[in-house]
Amino acid sequence: MLKLRVTDIKQYVFCPRIIYFTYVCPVDKKATRKMEYGKEAHVELDQLEKRRKFKRYNLSAAERKFHTQLFSERLGLEGKLDMHLVADGEIFPVEFKYTLRGPSLNHKYQLVAYAMLLEDIYNKPVRYGFLQLYPKGEVIPVEITPNARMFVKEIMQKIRAMVRNQIFPPTTLRKSRCIDCEYRNFCNDVR
Ligand code: SF4
Repeated sequence: MLKLRVTDIKQYVFCPRIIYFTYVCPVDKKATRKMEYGKEAHVELDQLEKRRKFKRYNLSAAERKFHTQLFSERLGLEGKLDMHLVADGEIFPVEFKYTLRGPSLNHKYQLVAYAMLLEDIYNKPVRYGFLQLYPKGEVIPVEITPNARMFVKEIMQKIRAMVRNQIFPPTTLRKSRCIDCEYRNFCNDVR
């Protein structure tokens, strides 16, 4: 079974072609300014987060765990989670996202995949997690539903089938995604 990363799930939901460029026909991608800014802002956010209270997560107290490397042999999946909270015997994944719009579906399913990894490691169900959006500082709760878990598993199956059969997928239908895409130079059919 091909071992996948949680970021593969995020990328597949954004545009399946990115997975083709990652696993089937690897290319030297160009880092965008948005990505570089995102990395710097992440470091500052860690520092800020340590000084904040837990009210924004609707918790009175919790233990914060930053940048934990997670792996599940059962799922064939690994990833490094921005933060998770341990409170009253429950576990909550938290992902920091730089976005001026709002959370998107790829962010949601990335968080669900992290929740599935935490469930395997802690051996207990994760009911919900949080997307923390910056620079706005909003905290959005995301319910980890059976359907969402199923969707993540389906994506993993599709990714493995794409890699196994070397399928070149069509471009995303949402062309606005191509504007700031680090793979744009390799998509000759994108205008
Ligand atoms: S440029 Fe557009 S079609 Fe090509 S990989 Fe990026 S998002 Fe997908």
